[in-house]
Amino acid sequence: MQTPEPGRLLLEEEVLVEDEKLWQEDGGSDHAGWFCVRTDPFPCPAAGCSFVAEFMTAAHLILVWQEQDDPNLLRHAQRAKEVGRNPRVCAYEPEFGPSASYYAWEAAGRPVHAIRGE
Ligand SMILES: [Zn+2]
Repeated sequence: MQTPEPGRLLLEEEVLVEDEKLWQEDGGSDHAGWFCVRTDPFPCPAAGCSFVAEFMTAAHLILVWQEQDDPNLLRHAQRAKEVGRNPRVCAYEPEFGPSASYYAWEAAGRPVHAIRGE
C-alpha cells in the first residue's frame, strides 16, 4: 500500500497523450477499406480547441471499423443521428485524415481528446 500512484497526480491531458501514443500504434493510416462515419461538421468538445470534425472521431482521429455492419459502428452512428450530426457510413480513405481502430481506442480507455502542440 506504499506504492505511489504517479498516474493520479498527472494532469488529465498528459494521461490522454500517453494513451494516444499507445493506441495509435495499432494501425496508423493502414485502414483503407475499413469503414468510418461521416457527419455534419462538429466542433471538438474540449475547451479552447478549434478542431472541427467531419467524421466520427476520437482525439481528432477518424474512428474506423473493419465491418460496415459492426454493432458498435451502428450504435455510434445511431447516437450521432440522435444529436443531429446526420451520420453516413462510408468506406474510409486515407486522404480523409489520420485514423484509429475503434477497438484499439476502446482498449486504451476511450481517450476523447489529446492536447497537441499546435
Ligand atoms: Zn480537440
